[in-house]
Amino acid sequence: MKAAVVVGFGQPLALQDWEIPTPGPGQILVKTEACGVCHTDVHAWHGDWPVKPKPPFIPGHEAIGRVVALGGGVTAVKLGDRVGVPWLYAACGHCEFCLQAWETVCAEAQFGGYTQNGGFAEYLLADPNYVAHIPAGLTPTEAAPLICAGITTYKGIKETEARPGQWIAISGIGGLGHLGVQYAKAMGLRVCAMDIDEGKLAHAKKLGADLVVNARVAEAVATVRAATGGGAHGVLITAPSLGAFKQGVGLTRKLGTCVLVGLPPGEFPTPLFDVVANCITIRGSFVGNRQDMAEALAFAAQGQVKADIELQPLSAINQVMQRLEKGDVASRVVIDFAQ
Ligand code: NAD
Ligand code: ZN
Ligand code: ZN
Repeated sequence: MKAAVVVGFGQPLALQDWEIPTPGPGQILVKTEACGVCHTDVHAWHGDWPVKPKPPFIPGHEAIGRVVALGGGVTAVKLGDRVGVPWLYAACGHCEFCLQAWETVCAEAQFGGYTQNGGFAEYLLADPNYVAHIPAGLTPTEAAPLICAGITTYKGIKETEARPGQWIAISGIGGLGHLGVQYAKAMGLRVCAMDIDEGKLAHAKKLGADLVVNARVAEAVATVRAATGGGAHGVLITAPSLGAFKQGVGLTRKLGTCVLVGLPPGEFPTPLFDVVANCITIRGSFVGNRQDMAEALAFAAQGQVKADIELQPLSAINQVMQRLEKGDVASRVVIDFAQ
């Protein structure tokens, strides 16, 4: 099978021929139809985070495909089912976090395209207990971005605890944020979209954002605070840039919640007095659980959310990764295995 492989951090991905893997007991083999390219794949390729994947590995955690082989004992899916193989590739199922449906923070969790080989390949193995079930109305290429960018923003919005009619500020309107704007509108929120790119802001406006603000202008925070009557009730930071995090705390209303989702390496300064005196919550959010996945997909199946996609063949993966790193992708590139 053709696969795009990280052979060393920061080195171009190598297009290699690999053996098609055989599913062991409890595993399934999925024939890839589409796989979105997430900014997390760029972090994985660079080895940006404290916990690193081990080259050689195949990135990609927005893989959609058909189940083509079952290992022993598999009952959760059938041959021919269309499934998604997400970032949350597997978890233990019985620790204190798994028992509370917080399997995303399970110490034994495996991550697709990171600790397990992912979807930048014609086939991949998956755990049938953790795959996404793709609703019949969605094509593989439109479903792909939903299983990371979609679930992550949908869950992140819920974690802000902003209620219908209240304001949410979403910082970073790329692969994640362009879906976040749509989920937030569908959830009845008033949306302020922020980015450093005017094209992304124009797109956010078309997607229904009530207010768009360029994050780079000096008065950005003051503009948002004035327009929202004291700051946004919920803030969702998807930007892979540390500056956006400090700014995000400044956008947050008294008693509001600022949810951190973007994962640039490093730390950001927190204005302690403002956070304490205004009783602001700063909260991390990491993809979502399997029920969040089903809910995030249902919005799209009902036509309330639609990923804006650019299709590319697997052979273009290096150009796509470089463009994503530079902020030069409009919304989401999806590798289309039919090309
Ligand atoms: P992307 O490159 O598609 O989009 C990022 C957007 O942020 C771009 O539109 C860019 O112009 C904008 N941006 C850059 N600097 C900014 C700034 N200072 N202020 C406002 N906007 C700014 O990336 P993506 O695929 O949407 O991923 C975004 C981040 O989210 C990455 O760090 C990724 O690893 C992380 N991520 C986290 C989770 C999670 O579960 N927490 C899941 C998926 C992705
Ligand atoms: Zn992702
Ligand atoms: Zn667990």
